[in-house]
Parts: sequence; C-alpha cells; structure tokens
Amino acid sequence: MAEQERPARAALGGPRLLLRRLREVMAEPIHAQARLDKIVITIAANMVAEVCSLYVLRSDRRLELFATEGLNREAVHLTTMLAGEGLVGLIAETAEPLALSDAQSHPSFSYKPETGEEIYHSFLGVPVLRGGNTLGVLVVQNKARRSYSEEEIEATQTTAMLLAELVASGELQSIVRPGNEIAIKGPMSVQGQPVADGIGLGHVVLHEPRIVITQLIAEDLGREEKRLNDSIEALRANIDRLIEIGADAGAGEHRDVLEAVRMLVNDRGWSRRLIEAIRSGLTAEAAVERVQNDTRAKLQRSTDPYLRERLHDLDDLANRLLHQLTGQGFVVAQDSLPDNAIIVARTMGPAALLEYDRKKLRGLVLEDGGPSSHVAIIARALGIPAVGEVPNVTDLVERGDSIILDGSSGIIQIRPQADVESAYGEKARLRARRQEQYRKLRDVPSITRDGVAIDLHMNAGLLIDLPHVQETGALSIGLFRTELQFMIVPQFPRMSTQLSFYKSVMDEMGDRPVTFRTLDIGGDKILPYMATFEEENPALGWRAIRIGLDRPALLRTQVRAMLRASAGRHLRIMFPMIAQVSEFDDAKAIVERELAHQERHGYPPPKDLKLGIMVEVPSVLWQLDEFLSRVDFISVGSNDLVQYMFAADRDNPRVSTRFDPLSPAILRALKLITDKAHPHAVPVTLCGEIGGQPLEAMALIGLGYRGLSMAGSSLGRVKAMVLSLNVAEVTEFIAQALHKSDGRSSIRQELIGFAEAKGIQL
Ligand code: PEP
Ligand code: MG
Repeated sequence: MAEQERPARAALGGPRLLLRRLREVMAEPIHAQARLDKIVITIAANMVAEVCSLYVLRSDRRLELFATEGLNREAVHLTTMLAGEGLVGLIAETAEPLALSDAQSHPSFSYKPETGEEIYHSFLGVPVLRGGNTLGVLVVQNKARRSYSEEEIEATQTTAMLLAELVASGELQSIVRPGNEIAIKGPMSVQGQPVADGIGLGHVVLHEPRIVITQLIAEDLGREEKRLNDSIEALRANIDRLIEIGADAGAGEHRDVLEAVRMLVNDRGWSRRLIEAIRSGLTAEAAVERVQNDTRAKLQRSTDPYLRERLHDLDDLANRLLHQLTGQGFVVAQDSLPDNAIIVARTMGPAALLEYDRKKLRGLVLEDGGPSSHVAIIARALGIPAVGEVPNVTDLVERGDSIILDGSSGIIQIRPQADVESAYGEKARLRARRQEQYRKLRDVPSITRDGVAIDLHMNAGLLIDLPHVQETGALSIGLFRTELQFMIVPQFPRMSTQLSFYKSVMDEMGDRPVTFRTLDIGGDKILPYMATFEEENPALGWRAIRIGLDRPALLRTQVRAMLRASAGRHLRIMFPMIAQVSEFDDAKAIVERELAHQERHGYPPPKDLKLGIMVEVPSVLWQLDEFLSRVDFISVGSNDLVQYMFAADRDNPRVSTRFDPLSPAILRALKLITDKAHPHAVPVTLCGEIGGQPLEAMALIGLGYRGLSMAGSSLGRVKAMVLSLNVAEVTEFIAQALHKSDGRSSIRQELIGFAEAKGIQL
C-alpha cells in the first residue's frame, strides 16, 4: 500500500488517557526540562507520531525549540525562528492549527538542517494559546504521508492548553538562557492613549480577575456535561431576569450588553463546541476556556470592527459562565489590594473606580476607554495616572506582575527590567519635585510678565474634587459637571438629594463661585438606570439641553435644587450643547418660572443669578451677537467644539487624534469668539481639555482668552507657563502665524519654537 493511502491511525489510548498521563507528568517533582522531555515523549507515543516538539515564544518574538522527541536533541534551545517564519512561525502568527500530509510542499516550509526534520512528511501543529495570545506551538510529525483526523487535531489542541498553563506558570523560567525570556514572562512595552497625567509604578490588579482553573482534566465526563448544562441554564435564567427587571436596575449593566449575551447564550453552535471540548476530556471550566481561547485567537486577528466588538460580548459571556461554574465573585476583594495597585481592566464604569481604596491606587490601565471617557474624568479627579485604549492588555499581564504606566505618553511597561524601572522611578521623582514647585505657586497671582491677569479655574463634578480647589489656588469652579454625580449612583437622585449635594458643594467652596452646568447626559454619558434609545449617531442625538427641554420636569427639578441650595448666595447656571438661541430662551424661561415659584413659596432667592451657555456646537459661532446680548457669560467647550468642527468622534481613537486643535481652523473659530465677546463685555472662559495643556493654553491667551478652567492637576503647570509669558508677544506671534499659515493643518511646531525661543515654561 502506498504511504499516502494509509488510513489515519487512531491515537493510542485516545485523548483522555493522554491527558491523564500528562497530568501525572505535571505533578512529578522533577526539573522543568525533564518534565518537558517526558511530556513530548508521552504525546508522541500516544499519537503514534515519530516526532513531538514544543516551541515557546520569547519576548523577542522568536520561537525557540524547548523540547523534542524525534528531532535532534542538540537543536533544543538552539533552533529558533521568527513568528511568521516557516510552518511553526505561521501557526504562531495565525493562531490556527495546521495539518499537512506533505509539509515540504507547503509554501511556508523552511528547512532547519540542525533538526534533521527533512525525513518527516506529515505535520500537525497547533498554537499554544492562553487568553487568545500565542505562547508557543506544539508540533507532531510523521515520516509517512498521512492526514490527521479532526479528533487528533482537537486532542492536540486540548493538550496544548495544558502546556499553556505550564508556560504561564513560570516554571520554564529556570531553563531560559539569560536574554531569551519567554514572552509571557518577559518585559514588554505597549502603547496606549494618555488619559490622566502622572507616572504609576506598582503591581497588576486585574479588575475582573481571571478565573484560575485548577482542574483541567475531567474525572467524569457525564458529570461535567451536566455541570455545564446546569450552569448555562442558570446563566440564561439570570440574564432573562436582569433584562426583565428593566434596565438592569442598580446592577450597572447595560441592556445592550445583556441582550447580546442573551443572544449568544442561546447559540447552539457555541454550546455544541463546549460539549465537544468536554468530550475530549476537559472539565466544564477548561472547556469554556478552551473554546474562548480559540474564539479570541480568531477574532483578535480579524480586521472587521463588528467581529472584534462581538469578541467583547463573547468574553463577557465566557466570563459569566466561568463565574457561574466556580461560584467565584466578580470584583477583586478589597482586602487583597496591594499597597501599590495598578488596576488593569477591559472596561470600567466610573463608579467601579471609586470603590477602590484611593490610598492604594497607583494607576489605571484600560483596554477600552479614551481620554474623554467618564472613568478617565474620575481618574483625573482622583489624581490617578491612567492610560486607555491599550490593546489586549488584560491578556498580557498576570496578577501581581510589576507594571509602570506613563499617563502623559500613554506608554505601559509590563514586567520592566531593572534599568527601565529605575529610569521611570527617577522620572516619577522629578515629577513629584515639579508638583512641589507648582504647589509653591498656589498663592502667587496668575499674572503674565507684562501684567495681564489670567484667571485660572477648576473643573469638578464630584465631592472628591473639592479639596483640590484649595490646594491648587483655583479662583472658582469654572465647570461643575453635574452629570458625574448622577452617573455614580444607582438611581435618579431626587430633588432633596440633589439639593443637599449642591449645598455641600457651595458650603465647601465658601466665597469661591461655582458654575453649575445642567445635566449633560446622552451621547456617551449614560445613566445606567435611564432607558436608552438606539441612536445611529448618539453624539449628534438626543442629549444634554435637548433632553432637558423635552423633559422639562427633569431640568426643573435640577434648577429647583440649585436655587434652593444657593439661598442668599451667588449662583451661576450654564446650559450645555446649546445650538440655537431659542434653546437658551426656553431654558432661561424654565429658570425664571422656577425662581418665581420658589419666591411664592417663601424660599429665599440667590443673591444674584447668572445664566450662561457652553459654546460647543459650531452653529453658535454664527449667532454670537444674538447670544452675547442675552447671556451673562459663555464658556467654550473645546472638546465638543473640536469634535463637531472636524466631524471626528472624540471617543474614537481612529479619528480623535487625526486633527489638531492647534489648527488654523479651530484657532480662528476660537478667536472669533473672543473678538465678538469683547465689545459685548461678556466674560468668556474655556473649559475643555486644551485649557489645561500649557502649549494650548498659551495659544488661547494669544487669542484673547483671559479665563481658563481645567482639571485640578493641570493648574500648577499652566500657572507656571502664565508667569513666564508675555501676552503682547504671543498675541502678535499667533496673529502672524494664522495670517500666513499656508494651508498647514497645525501650527503646533511654530508655537513650540516660539515658546522655546522666549523661555516660556511648558
Ligand atoms: C467640552 O465639551 O469641552 C466640555 C468641557 O464638556 P464635556 O467634556 O463634559 O463634554
Ligand atoms: Mg461638552
């Protein structure tokens, strides 16, 4: 019989026997290399293969042969290949199994003479996966040309899962040569988006800790199938219940997520794959992990954003099922928080961050969540450095790993080497020294070198922000984002709750004024307890003042609470997302009616009441005269103004950094606002994020802005810039630069050059 016609042989003893045998080898008290050698021999024997080899991925992206049965032993720890190189490299890169009856005719085949593999024709390789990441490649080879059956491929994948645990356990560290660290334990540097300034050094705490599966191999398949089915049933009932009790009351869970999970949990394909994994010998937990590993590996490499989004839902589902199976809690226990905790999370709501002990938090790293997400605003309020949009980070770290994050550059150092760690330690000390200098500036008046006063205010939204006003010497709260308080409570706050909240804000602030902005919800700011509507374009949808005017009871309640809280004191109310004059008129009418109502009922009115608007919708730019003759003040919301002017979603990392606010287009619009406001004698401030960045703030002053409101942590460095600035010079410089911009999309470089030449502290 010709070799290639020989039927596929059944593996000796089958996969379950192999797993049992491997478990015994895993438990033996032997050296790591001896264990690996035994493992490859056991697999080769069980699968009736002449060769079994294990390649492990190093942090330099090379795959190193760690053990082999059948190839030349001398090649162990010598043969390496890059991910993407040869068949083994191809498997590592695609994270897909590869079964070939004639390996040498495959276009990716590359010959490594030291291994002696030229005599083996058939080849089966599977990725060693953990959390969707490739840790290595497991290969079996046969001399004869043969095709490997589905069962054999399946069994090899299950075996690889066991090896993943071994690699991840760190045991192989003892056989790694210096400089050749394996990827999962090696140092790694990842780039994310800067979210909150500062440097954090500490140890990883996973926000939703991964369930550690201790028992991979099933003792009793029937029992495991039943456990799985029972858990799926319980999960299904639980999700139905959550959806039924109506928008997830209090659980902080979003209906869309639950709906997606419900759809998946009812997917027959998914439960069939789980059952198949159990039948290959795994426990129910291991089966969930196995199936999710494969799914992750596939979807992570997909370029389709829809499919990648589904991955989150599938992860969520797998996670819920694992918790169901093991009965373990969802969030890390507070008492197990180390003193220098860096929280690593896929996503996180603002409330969850507040639940951690602030004293122990050193930083926050998120897979999702850009600089203007709400958890980012909370991180800034708490003064915790944070980085967002770090791809796949929850799978790159293990609990307890050392980690550094740089909140100003967005760089994360995972398991850094000693010299990197000491460099960052030095950077952190320098920063602390600079912060100390800023603190000394607290009582220094904010006046430029040529005697122009620049008023610096602070943005706030929670009670935890308030002490910073004193610490930083801010003149007032220039933007109080009232929605933040609404976002961190389980239900819509009643009038009395709002009243006591606004009152404590004003009490704490004493003589310093507070500009309360009415609820700016909708778009990306979601109240977990409020019914949501599907909108194609939420940022352009039903939000902020639009909700307030369509649901006047909501706005009225808030206004009433503010009026009562400010009896006999100054009150400033600002309306968000105003796009046309009638909206301001209508909102003002609500306030006036409410004021009259309060007076009729004997409540003392505020000492004086000022009403203003956010300038953040471009349409306002062409109605400035009409607005300015009506309002008491305006504040430019540059975050939204820039997003709407460039038609670029501020939360979408693909486009949010594509356009520079220091572009002639934006700067001219910002100049138009101060030019118009001046003759009307209406005070203007700017309260978007650019106000807190020294270079941008310098440009704003050059455009005529004399009031900026920013995060408390930015105040010191902006004041240091102000003290070193000459307003006349920057005004002249910016006017010239805008005049001869020659179609450039940014004048950032020119501004940096100017600041350097003039010795302005940035
Ligand atoms: C803005 O849009 O610039 C602003 C200050 O408001 P928010 O970031 O809350 O939308
Ligand atoms: Mg805004």
